[in-house]
Amino acid sequence: MKQLLRKMNINNKRVLLRCDLNVPIENGNVLDETKIIKSLETINYLLKENCKIIILSHLGRVKSEEDKAKNTLEPVRLSLAKLLNKEIKFATDILGPSTKEIAQALLPGEILLLENTRFLDIPNKLESTLNEETAKQLSELGEVFVLDAFASSHRTHTSVVGLSKYLPSCLGFLAEAEINMLNKNLINHKNPFTVIMGGAKVDDKLSIIKSLLPKCDHLLLSGGIANSFLYALGLNLGESLKNDNPEIVSELQSLMFTYKEKFAFPLDAIVSSTYNNTTTIKSINKIEANDIIKDIGAKTITKYKDILDNSETIFINGTMGVYEEKEFKNGTTEIFNILSKYPEKVVIGGGDTISALNNLGFRGKFENISSGGGATLEFIANGTLPGIEAIMEDDGIEVLDL
Ligand code: ADP
Ligand code: MG
Repeated sequence: MKQLLRKMNINNKRVLLRCDLNVPIENGNVLDETKIIKSLETINYLLKENCKIIILSHLGRVKSEEDKAKNTLEPVRLSLAKLLNKEIKFATDILGPSTKEIAQALLPGEILLLENTRFLDIPNKLESTLNEETAKQLSELGEVFVLDAFASSHRTHTSVVGLSKYLPSCLGFLAEAEINMLNKNLINHKNPFTVIMGGAKVDDKLSIIKSLLPKCDHLLLSGGIANSFLYALGLNLGESLKNDNPEIVSELQSLMFTYKEKFAFPLDAIVSSTYNNTTTIKSINKIEANDIIKDIGAKTITKYKDILDNSETIFINGTMGVYEEKEFKNGTTEIFNILSKYPEKVVIGGGDTISALNNLGFRGKFENISSGGGATLEFIANGTLPGIEAIMEDDGIEVLDL
């Protein structure tokens, strides 16, 4: 059991808090504040405990000097200041002496946000690989490390796994809640356990598919994932998205051989034709050379509904079709409709899956939504993550005095 924030005496301490504030930003405006709002529970608790708070987060991809301008955390600072109705200090030179001075001078209840940790990657990748010297330098800014960035905890990056070696450490409320939700619903699931895997690329999801197959009773496939398995079975899929790498094909064949009775494939598909630009519904064994599969059809939805209605635990990751286009959102919409009849049985994970849920009118209909993306999939596959592993163990003392 890892140490938890509420079991530590952090009163008045200088706390380094690793959040996931990686929000979408356009023209300097935060488009979706969900991740910032979710981080407030831990921040508000630290404020109540009179902590001096130093927040770290990455934002977007920073591969070159030019990437910095569009990935500054300044818009996040403004959003956080508005939500907390409080001044948020900002330090741009993360490892510089000025940042250390601001951190040292913080008063109880004051907050300092450090600039995007991935700025440290230019030129020497000090964040995106574990750099001990950088971790040590960062740790000197605080007295305690709190990891609340569940969604980043699969990354062996300096600000995620590095600091707990040098400071007393614990999990924040958001990380704790996410771990508890996944443990309760998926790691300790009830059977029949059904997994719905959709979306684009099978290679992204192969490790989670492999880890879930022994545990689940049914694996319902859709999207590019289903196409890749069907291709491995020898079906003609026209120009549909699929993985035809021989090594992957043979791996998929061996999985289907081992777990035959668990696989459920689409019976029909909504296809668009590159030949005459029409959209039609076709049986899965009647796909022609110019066809591109874009969604599941009505027969597939009925077949999947029957399995879902008889399941006790359901995990869905990936959309049923190209939900971004209105002609191909029906499969995803109908599956969400079915799942919304028994939301307590359902766990939802994946960036696009959650966007689809919100865009297709299901916001607020499900409780067990894991915000982790890749972290969620890795947690389900391995039962832990590198960032979580690095946090110190709970030694059983009710409140740990630091
Ligand atoms: P998540 O981000 O939730 O893990 P994915 O990224 O795997 O989900 O899946 C969503 C993406 O899969 C969407 O961009 C969607 O357009 C794409 N997709 C779904 N079905 C198909 C298909 N048949 N062909 C091509 N792309 C598809
Ligand atoms: Mg995605």
